[in-house]
Amino acid sequence: VFTAATVAAAPEDPLFGLMKAYREDPSDKKVDLGIGAYRDNNAKPWILPVVKKADDAIHKDPSLNHEYLSIGGLPDFTSAAQKLIVGATSPAIQEKRICSLQTISGTGAVHLGGLFLSKFHPQKPTIYLSNPTWANHNQIFTNVGLSLANYPYFSKETKGLDFNGMLQALRAAPNGSIILLHACAHNPTGVDPSQDQWREIAAVMRERQHFPFFDTAYQGFASGDLVRDSWAIRYFVEQGFELCVAQSFAKNFGLYGERTGAFHFVSAPGADASTANSHIASQLAILQRSEISNPPAYGARIASRVLNDPTLFAEWEDDLRTMSGRIQEMRRGLRKRLEAKGTPGSWDHITSQIGMFSFTGLSEAQVKILRDKWHVYMTKNGRISMAGLNTNNLDYFAEAVDSVVR
Ligand code: PLP
Repeated sequence: VFTAATVAAAPEDPLFGLMKAYREDPSDKKVDLGIGAYRDNNAKPWILPVVKKADDAIHKDPSLNHEYLSIGGLPDFTSAAQKLIVGATSPAIQEKRICSLQTISGTGAVHLGGLFLSKFHPQKPTIYLSNPTWANHNQIFTNVGLSLANYPYFSKETKGLDFNGMLQALRAAPNGSIILLHACAHNPTGVDPSQDQWREIAAVMRERQHFPFFDTAYQGFASGDLVRDSWAIRYFVEQGFELCVAQSFAKNFGLYGERTGAFHFVSAPGADASTANSHIASQLAILQRSEISNPPAYGARIASRVLNDPTLFAEWEDDLRTMSGRIQEMRRGLRKRLEAKGTPGSWDHITSQIGMFSFTGLSEAQVKILRDKWHVYMTKNGRISMAGLNTNNLDYFAEAVDSVVR
């Protein structure tokens, strides 16, 4: 019989537990390198100037109200989100081979995609996740009833991509497996395949008839260039893959709490592609209806204004360069300091990795000393959020790392 007493306590979410410990630490030296949210040079959340502008315009717009959006969300938002992913002139758009639904940010898009594949894929294949991956992938895909497997991704020796291990695993996976790929700025490692490596990955996936599931949470945030950060997805689409994309606007618009994202299903080219795609859209709408009825309006209105206005769009690109540029500066600054101190080990991975996170290579024991002795908070796998570094704490953090590594 079910009673309240039969439910055991769940373990605390490690990342949110870390944030709590940081908040409760009274030290004025404390450094928060845990959560993946952008911070400015004063360690404060940053409202993108273009978001502020769009927000002000929304408040002055008398035509807006608080009615429900449609099940698929705000059409101006989803169509612009689609163009951002595959490029405005993509044949996939012209041939009506993409259907897009607004979702509860990237998490909701990953979930909707997982649920759809779990219900509609006749073989319900295993989904392969990179080892390591964003921890929530495991929970989300398990919740929708997909079976999970891993492919090697990170090489501890080079602190770069284990490319051979990855390809071998993709070759060994049963034909037609679902492969989850981070489009750019891999979380948690910051390690991305090169364009040549993406081409080889695509070739193996084509050979094995695998289904690509792209997760893109950092477009424009990684390199400062929206096109470059969507290169892998665009390449797979050009190659004629059928695939899906979970897209988040949390990081690149700084709209974390507004839960702004989209799910896209791209059908393969062919005479019946647009009909097949409209069938998929209709099934996705039914799933969405039962899960959230319709998505939240506010963040999508902001993003839509920016994405659909060339002047605001250009300002957004400036803001993206501000964020990615500051992070790249912190990467160079950290590496320079560690090398100047002669900190044992090699530190070039700090600058070759990209995006919000760096996989430092620090051990769990070293991470614990950093937290207990130095008040530096990071996840125990040695991942740091580069956005938590700034010109005020870089020297201190480098000193702390140097001391625990020696
Ligand atoms: N996917 C990856 C790889 C992420 O790193 C994140 C956020 O950290 C997300 C998806 C989803 O984030 P959100 O639901 O806030 O858009």
